[in-house]
Amino acid sequence: MTDNAIASPASPGADVVLRIEDLVVDFPMAHRAPVRAVDHVSLEMRKAEILGIVGESGSGKSTMARVVAGFLEPTEGDILLPDSDGKLVPRSGKRGHRDVQMVFQQSAVSMNPRSQVWKVIGEAYSPNRWLSKGRSVADGHGPAAVTLESAVKAELHRVGLPEAYSGKRAAELSGGEKQRVAIARALAPRPLIIVCDEPVSSLDVSIRAVILNLFERLRDELGMALFFISHDISVMAHLADRVVVMHDGKAVESGPAREVIDNPQDDYTRRLIAAVPSFERGSRGAGQRNGAGRGGMPHGKPPRAATSAPENASN
Ligand code: ADP
Ligand code: MG
Repeated sequence: MTDNAIASPASPGADVVLRIEDLVVDFPMAHRAPVRAVDHVSLEMRKAEILGIVGESGSGKSTMARVVAGFLEPTEGDILLPDSDGKLVPRSGKRGHRDVQMVFQQSAVSMNPRSQVWKVIGEAYSPNRWLSKGRSVADGHGPAAVTLESAVKAELHRVGLPEAYSGKRAAELSGGEKQRVAIARALAPRPLIIVCDEPVSSLDVSIRAVILNLFERLRDELGMALFFISHDISVMAHLADRVVVMHDGKAVESGPAREVIDNPQDDYTRRLIAAVPSFERGSRGAGQRNGAGRGGMPHGKPPRAATSAPENASN
C-alpha cells in the first residue's frame, strides 16, 4: 500500500456497502410515454445498517429493490457494491451477486411447495447444483466446510425453527414459518445486504413484530445491512436506523428514522404518518426509542420492537 491508498478502515465511507447513484428506471409502454418508476434517486447504506424505504404503493420501492438485487438493469445511474477490497464498484455484470440476497413479501412464490425445507435453504449454498445432505459446503463463517445438512440445521436454529423442520415440505409451513425459511435462505451465503421487499406485509398482525424482531436480532448478530421496504411507516419506527421516503419515484425525504418520524419536513411524509391510525407518535416506536446508537451509528444496540410475544413463538 502506498501512502495515498484509499479507504483506511476508519475513514468516513469505508463501511458503505451500497451506493445508489442517480438511479432512473423507465418502463417502456406501448403507444405511450414510458413510466418513470424511479426518478433520479441517490442514497448510501452502511454496513449493518437497517435502511427503511417507505412510500405508498406505486412509489417505486419494488423497482428499486429489483435493481439493487440485480434482477433489473437501471435506465440511468449506477449501483455500487464493495469489491473484495471493500472498494465500491458498479455492479454491472454482477447478476446474482452473492453479497445481495432478497426476501420477498410472498416467500411462497419463490419456493417449490413440494420441496423440503433443507433443499429450499440448501439451494443458497449450491445454486444450480444437484443437492445432497452430505455434500460439504462452506459454513459461511470462513474456510471451514460442514455438511449441507448441518449447515441448514444451523440456519434453521438461527431463525428460530426446530431442526426437524428440515424435512418438512414448504407447503406444510405457515406464513410466518415460510418467511423464516426465506430469511434462512437469504442468510446462508452471509451476504452484506439483504433486500427485504415488504417482508411482513402479508403476515398476520400478531406475527409481524415477531419477524421484525428476528430481522433486528440477525442484523445485530451477523452484521448484514437491510434494505428494508415497507409501505407502513410505523414499521420503520420499530426497525429502521434511517429512512428514505419515496413518492412518485423520487426520494422526497431522508434521515434518521426518529427524526423523520418525529419531525417530518415533507408534506408527503406527514401524510404517510397521518395515514397509520394505530401509529401513536411519541408513545411507541420512534418516540420511545433510546436515541443513542441510532441514525447512522449501526453498531449501537437498538431496542427491540415492542411486542409481548417471544420471538420464537410458534407461528
Ligand atoms: P411500489 O413497490 O412502491 O409499490 P413499484 O416499484 O412496484 O412501486 O412501481 C412503481 C411504478 O412503476 C408504478 O407506477 C408501477 O405501475 C410501475 N411499474 C412497475 N413495474 C412495472 C413493469 N414491469 N412495467 C410497467 N410498469 C411498471
Ligand atoms: Mg412494491
